[in-house]
Amino acid sequence: MSTTRPLTSQNATTLPLNDVEEEAPRVLQLGAYLRISDDDRDPETGELSREGVTNQLKECHALAADLRGEIVRVYDDNDTSASDPFIVRKDFEQLLKDLQAGIIDGFVFKHSDRVARQAFDAARVCQIFERNDKLVGRAVTGGTDLSTDNGRAMFVMQAVMGGVEASSIRRRKADANRHKAVDGKDHTGRRAWGWDENGRLVQPYAELRKKAILDIGDGATVSQIQADWAEAGILGKNGKPVLYKTVILRITHPRNCGYKAYMPTRERRGNPPPWGPDIIMYDTKGKPVIGEWERLVTPEQYWRAIRVLEKRKDAAKQKGQTGGSRPGHRTHLLSGLLRCGKCSTRLTASARTIKGEKVPFYRCPITNNGCGGITRSAAKLEEYVEELYLEAFAKKIARQAKRTGATETRKITAAESRLSEISKEIEEVMARRKPEAKRRISTTQALDLISELEEERGKLRHQVRELSAKIEEHRKTSPALLKEWVDYTTDKKRHEMGKLIKAVIVEKAPRGRHFDPNSVDIGWVEED
Ligand SMILES: [Zn+2]
Repeated sequence: MSTTRPLTSQNATTLPLNDVEEEAPRVLQLGAYLRISDDDRDPETGELSREGVTNQLKECHALAADLRGEIVRVYDDNDTSASDPFIVRKDFEQLLKDLQAGIIDGFVFKHSDRVARQAFDAARVCQIFERNDKLVGRAVTGGTDLSTDNGRAMFVMQAVMGGVEASSIRRRKADANRHKAVDGKDHTGRRAWGWDENGRLVQPYAELRKKAILDIGDGATVSQIQADWAEAGILGKNGKPVLYKTVILRITHPRNCGYKAYMPTRERRGNPPPWGPDIIMYDTKGKPVIGEWERLVTPEQYWRAIRVLEKRKDAAKQKGQTGGSRPGHRTHLLSGLLRCGKCSTRLTASARTIKGEKVPFYRCPITNNGCGGITRSAAKLEEYVEELYLEAFAKKIARQAKRTGATETRKITAAESRLSEISKEIEEVMARRKPEAKRRISTTQALDLISELEEERGKLRHQVRELSAKIEEHRKTSPALLKEWVDYTTDKKRHEMGKLIKAVIVEKAPRGRHFDPNSVDIGWVEED
C-alpha cells in the first residue's frame, strides 16, 4: 500500500452522511472501490503514480452521478494484489463492513476484477448483496449489477476469470465504445477532420484526405500534401497551413480505413502524434476492430500509404537522419505482439526523453482495459525477441526442408522399385511370346503389353529426375528472409514475425538493470 493516500476510506468519513428518513428523492450515498495491483513507482523517489486509481475514481464519480448518487467514501487498495490469498486488502475489508452495516447505500467500481480476483472474495461480496436487495453495486465496465442474480453470476465469473481472454474481449468491446468520442480526434478538435459527428463523410475535406492517402501511396511527399491543402484553403486553427505532423496523423490514422484506434490522453499530451499503425485497436484474435463510421479508403490503400512512408523513414535512418524533427515517423518492431503479464492487455509503444534522447518503451496502457502495471524499455526486449524469432525461423525452414526431403526420397524409392519390376515384367512378356512358353500370348498382345509398360517406365523415370532436382533445390536454397532480414523495414519485419509469434507475454522487469529472459514468454504459432 502507498504511504500517500489522500483518498482512503478512513479520511473520507468526514463527509456528512444523510440519515434523514425518506426525504425523497434521496441522493444515494455510495462508496467507490479503487484498485490496481502494481502501480508505477518513480524509480528515484519511490512514489507511486496513482494514475490508475485516479482515473478509476473519475469514472466512478461519473457512474455514481448516473445512478443519482454521490460518492461519500473512497476505498482505495492501490498497488495491492487481489489474487494472492495471503494478502489482506484493508479497504476491501472495510468496504464489506460498511456495506453490511448499511453505512453506505452501495458502491461502484471500475470492473469486477478490481474488486475480487478470487472466488472466495467474490462470494463474500455476493452474500452481502443477496441479503440486502436494496444495495447498489455497479461496475463502470462489464455491465455488472450486483443487485440482480445475473449480475452476481457475472461478477463472480468476471472476478475469477479476470485474467482470462473471455472477459477481456467483453471489456475491450465496452471500452471501444466508451472511447468512441475520443477516437479519431486529431488536432482540429472533437470531430475527425473529414467526418461529421455521425461518422459520415463531409466534403470537400473527406475527398482531400482520401486523395492525400492515395497520393502518398503513389509517391507524393508529405510536404506536397501540405502544400496541396494550403492551396485548397485548408488551414489550421491558427490560420496558418496545417502542420506537417498533423498531415501525417491524418494520413496514417487507422480510422481512414475503418479501423478503430485508441490513444491514451496521457500519451498524447505534449508528445509527438502517434504513428497510425501503432494505435490500431486489435481484438483478441489479432484482427483490427472496425469502427462504425464511413471509411475513406480500403485497408489495402491505407497500408500502401503506410508502407511508402515507412520505407522513406527507414531510408532516412540509414542515411543517418534521425527524423527527429519530423515526429510521427516511428514504428515499433513488437507493436501488437506484446501482452501484459498481469492483465493480458496488449502493450502500447511510446517513448520518453531521457537526457535529451528518445528512449522507446512498451507499456500496459491504463486505457483500453490495461492495468498500467508494466513498462519495459524497447531496445533489449526487441533485440531478444528478434533473435529468438530468427532462430525459430531458421529451425522451421530446416525442418521443412528435411520433411520435404524425406517425402521426396520415399517417392523416389517407390518409383525405383516399380522400375525394376517393370524390367522383369517386360522380360516375362517377351518369354511368353515364344512357342515353347507355358501360357503363350501372341506377338501382337505382347507388343501391346510391352508398350504399356514402357510408357509407365518413361513416366517413372521422369518423376525420379524431378524429385531428385527438388531435393537438391531444398538443400541449396537458404531462404531469402534470412539473407535480406537486415534490409527489411520494421513494418515488414513485424509482419514476418507475426507469422510465427502469436504473442509475447511480458512480465514486470526484475530489479536491477540486467535483462531477464525469464520475464518474457513467447507464444509460438503452432504448425499445421
Ligand atoms: Zn496490464
